Amino acid sequence: MKAFQYRSIGRAPEVVDVPVPVPGPGEVLLRVSAAGVCHSDEFIMSLPEEQYVYGLPLTLGHECAGIVESLGEGVKGISVGESVLVYGPWGCGRCYACSRGEENYCESAAVQGIRPPGLGAPGAMAEYLLVDDARHLVSLGGLDPVTCVSLTDAGLTPYHAIKKSLPILVPGSVAIVIGAGGLGHVAVQILRAITPSLVIALDTAGDKIDLARAVGAHFGFVTGGAAETMLMLEEEIRALSGGRGAAAVFDFVGIQSTTELAARLVGVGGEIVVVGVGPGTVQVGFFSTPWESSARAPYWGSRSELIEVLELARTGRIKVEIERFSLDEAPRAYESLHAGTLRGRAVVIP
Ligand code: NAD
Ligand code: ZN
Repeated sequence: MKAFQYRSIGRAPEVVDVPVPVPGPGEVLLRVSAAGVCHSDEFIMSLPEEQYVYGLPLTLGHECAGIVESLGEGVKGISVGESVLVYGPWGCGRCYACSRGEENYCESAAVQGIRPPGLGAPGAMAEYLLVDDARHLVSLGGLDPVTCVSLTDAGLTPYHAIKKSLPILVPGSVAIVIGAGGLGHVAVQILRAITPSLVIALDTAGDKIDLARAVGAHFGFVTGGAAETMLMLEEEIRALSGGRGAAAVFDFVGIQSTTELAARLVGVGGEIVVVGVGPGTVQVGFFSTPWESSARAPYWGSRSELIEVLELARTGRIKVEIERFSLDEAPRAYESLHAGTLRGRAVVIP
């Protein structure tokens, strides 16, 4: 079968031919319907050898949808032909976190060498994908796998980030999204769907602001201009919150300039949520951030949250904007991601 693999450090990934995997006991083989392209893929492929821990060759693709092709010995509760989404942050399934469905925070995945598909285990940018356990599959029902595949990360990750902030996203509050790309444009929709907050999107690219506005942001501003322009813009944003500052700032970039911007925009008791994997840090301190403000860096989401995200899509309250690519065109999908020219998410259809 064809697979799109990152094969050597610093080299562009390529389409190669590999054997179709055979499901062992407890495993499920999927015929891939769609695989999403995430900025995290670009991040891991930018790592120098000494920091790269995902194994080579690595079949990319941690956003996965497929049709159940065959079942390994002992697999129950799922049938051949079922259309499914794959919950990506695989855990051990038995520790306290996994028992709560929070396999993204599994206590022993690292020790046991359990890695998500596309981030250690072979991913979905291939014709077939091996899934380690049927509990990682969520039925799509009649929903389109191509438009839904990115709910597994570009939907789930912002949902998990936002859900923890719900108690402070009350009527009259302001929520800010920094970076309105793949994750950010879904974050805007989730905020509109499950909170009464005023939603403000910030991005360095004007077309991303247009997208954020089109999917529901009340206001959108292009950032990254000269220091004076930024000061005026920050004043304007603060005025939109009645001078209070934002209840929550979701940073989908995570570089020093965006985490610092987030810290300047947050209000008393507010939350700075760093989702982007940039090297930026947030300094929370008595004289540096408003009283009671806090910062956190969430990772992916839980199994039950994926079901909740799918429900938002099923009822038409969120929709991932996508651009389609064939497996042979996967290199071009990554080039578009790198160039910042994608509208929403790139989806590869093998
Ligand atoms: P993307 O490339 O689709 O979107 C990034 C957006 O940020 C783009 O619209 C870009 O124009 C904008 N941007 C870039 N620099 C900016 C700046 N200085 N100020 C404002 N906007 C800026 O990327 P994505 O796939 O949506 O991923 C976003 C981030 O989230 C990446 O860092 C990715 O690795 C990370 N991520 C984290 C998790 C997690 O679990 N924490 C999960 C998935 C992705
Ligand atoms: Zn991702």
